[in-house]
Amino acid sequence: MARVTTDIDFDRPGKHAGTISVPNSSNTSGWGTLMVPLLVVNGGKGPTMLFTGGNHGDEYEGPVALLKFARELQPDGLFGRVIIMPALNLPALLAGQRLSPIDGKNMNRVFPGDRRGTVTSLIAYFVQNELLPRADVVVDIHSGGRSMYFAPTVVVHRLPDVDGMSRTLAALHAFNAPYGLVIEELDAEGMLDTAVEAMGKILISTELGGSATLSPRTIGIAERGIRNLLAHFGLTNKAIEAPAATRLLEVPDGSFYLAAEEDGLYEPLVDVEGAVKRGQALGQVHDPERPLAPPAAKIATQDGILICRHGQGRVARGDTLAVIARDFRAH
Ligand code: ZN
Repeated sequence: MARVTTDIDFDRPGKHAGTISVPNSSNTSGWGTLMVPLLVVNGGKGPTMLFTGGNHGDEYEGPVALLKFARELQPDGLFGRVIIMPALNLPALLAGQRLSPIDGKNMNRVFPGDRRGTVTSLIAYFVQNELLPRADVVVDIHSGGRSMYFAPTVVVHRLPDVDGMSRTLAALHAFNAPYGLVIEELDAEGMLDTAVEAMGKILISTELGGSATLSPRTIGIAERGIRNLLAHFGLTNKAIEAPAATRLLEVPDGSFYLAAEEDGLYEPLVDVEGAVKRGQALGQVHDPERPLAPPAAKIATQDGILICRHGQGRVARGDTLAVIARDFRAH
């Protein structure tokens, strides 16, 4: 018997809201169940798109944009099927934190999930085995979380398959965030992205703002991106809304990431979207316990633009302080 079940019939026409039921035995609820919202809007023939938010619980553009999208979307005039999970890591989202408070796990590092695992791995297992096989395109909406702040960016990975790469880049441009980024991750093992890409399906992710907050600008970009992707993949007849072209960037290797070497207070000297030159100070770390000690300058290692900076004033050794991106080069 499946450990994770759903009351949703994916093939039934119309709009349906339900849950996935995940066994969650605790001290206060011995035979308890975690119920994670799942919605399907089935308009008939056409591709299936899966939209996920709340993969990390302190990133809010995805959940808020997808809640609004789920309320508005109707099967009439929809050519295909849309599956929505606005709160993928529901316990983390309810706790306002990146990782699940139940098992301490990062949803985006446990794919393909584990049938014998704890709740985070069980949710991933359900997504891996029940949702990804049904989906042609997966859109996983992230932001920087509490600890990072990004320029509004749609994010993809470099794929070995030329056709898959060109279809992914076409979708990136259709989303129409101000920036598009082809990123080399520091650690891609266990990501939802990696699971989708391994199936040869299209994965679109984002980094829209961060610092565990929302802005009208970033929510607007998320909502427009969702509408544009539906139109791009032929699920609606609407025109793509493209107020300005997306600037395509890349983070080709680890030298574009800057980590903190000391604890302290981070003063950014350049904000996201700012042009940076190699050798330039991007920010400095102050030591509040040594008032007369000079701050430690954080020096840009590459030319480009600042795509991400530290999202909080407090910084600890090992935190990501800055990510620089350069204009995309076809290799
Ligand atoms: Zn995230």
